[in-house]
Amino acid sequence: MSGGPARSSPQPESQQADCLIVGAGLAGLTAARRLASTGVRVLLVDKAKSPGGRLATRRIGSARLDHGAQFFTVRSADFAAEVETWVEDGVVDVWTNGFSHDDGHPRYRAVEGMSSIAKYLAGRLQSELLRPPTHASRAQANAVVAAGDTWSVTYEAGCREPDEALAMILTPPVPQCVELLRSGAVATPHLDELAAIDYHKVIAILVTLDRAPGLPEPGAIQQPDDLTFTFVADNQAKGVSVAPAVTFHCAHDLSRNLWSLDDGNVLAHVHEAMRRYLGGAAVNEVQVKRWRYAGPVEPRPEPCLVVADSPGPLVVAGDGFAGSKVEGAFLSGLAAAETVMNALR
Ligand SMILES: Cc1cc2nc3c(=O)[nH]c(=O)nc-3n(C[C@H](O)[C@H](O)[C@H](O)COP(=O)(O)OP(=O)(O)OC[C@H]3O[C@@H](n4cnc5c(N)ncnc54)[C@H](O)[C@@H]3O)c2cc1C
Repeated sequence: MSGGPARSSPQPESQQADCLIVGAGLAGLTAARRLASTGVRVLLVDKAKSPGGRLATRRIGSARLDHGAQFFTVRSADFAAEVETWVEDGVVDVWTNGFSHDDGHPRYRAVEGMSSIAKYLAGRLQSELLRPPTHASRAQANAVVAAGDTWSVTYEAGCREPDEALAMILTPPVPQCVELLRSGAVATPHLDELAAIDYHKVIAILVTLDRAPGLPEPGAIQQPDDLTFTFVADNQAKGVSVAPAVTFHCAHDLSRNLWSLDDGNVLAHVHEAMRRYLGGAAVNEVQVKRWRYAGPVEPRPEPCLVVADSPGPLVVAGDGFAGSKVEGAFLSGLAAAETVMNALR
């Protein structure tokens, strides 16, 4: 994605892709790399100005804060092999083996913030894609349409001309995939089951501080059952920020209850609770980030779903499948690529 405006004048594209992938989060990037490595001509589009999706890092002054995924774990052999290369290339390393105690299971952090994983993967893709993800592929898809022998994606008005491909992989959160399918009146028996995949909301609060808050080792608290904050992390102690900067993730129920409030009222609601984690440090700046689709309530067990196989394979993938989270997104992207490769053979 370039840093340019999403609503620039229409950009005609002449090259026909074998596979068009919507979404340059981890699932889309993984699918794109796998396909491109076998010579499949891939087109990757994302509505955001940079790749990563929920692998998200924000700068506030000199501070750097992860505000989507905070860390990831590794369970499968496929993801372990991939993460090994990320470690070798200095992109990630082990942050801790547990938050309240050492349970022996590594939690990985990205050395320069979680979005740097996506930038690294996008960089490796640049030479392999028809339209590299860091250049001219910023566009918001608004419908998937069967168009003769190909699938077509139409974009937000004025964004650019539709793109066509023999195969298509959709990797936005599942409710957004359902919108794309409905808008294009795609004939599939799977719409209802996809529409049943619900997502949690999460409100993230980002604060920069005048000094370290003194959170316990490793600089973060994970408390899935807490009614206010399920995760609190000092990005400086984590090693991704030069300045003290804390990310708070509000609990699912609290996020849902506060969702309709404006930022000022959200902050007023959690202000006292936040202070308890700041060790007396003064707040320099505070920002609120809302994740409408933070993660699936019940991910589907299969690695991806083929919603149509004519005119070519149309696959829905991402963290709604394969166990969700960062590893699920990776495994789902990989599975979607394998599905498309088998169909195109
Ligand atoms: C607050 C929060 C905390 C989390 N914590 C953790 C954690 O600690 N550990 C962990 O493992 N996981 C965590 N996760 C989950 C993890 O971030 C996700 O599972 C994973 O990043 C999802 O990747 P994805 O590629 O499936 O989807 P995404 O990253 O959402 O990528 C989808 C992409 O599609 C693009 N897109 C959407 N609609 C369109 C459209 N119409 N046109 C074009 N592009 C579109 C988006 O811009 C996005 O880039 C967390 C998530 C959140 C939000």
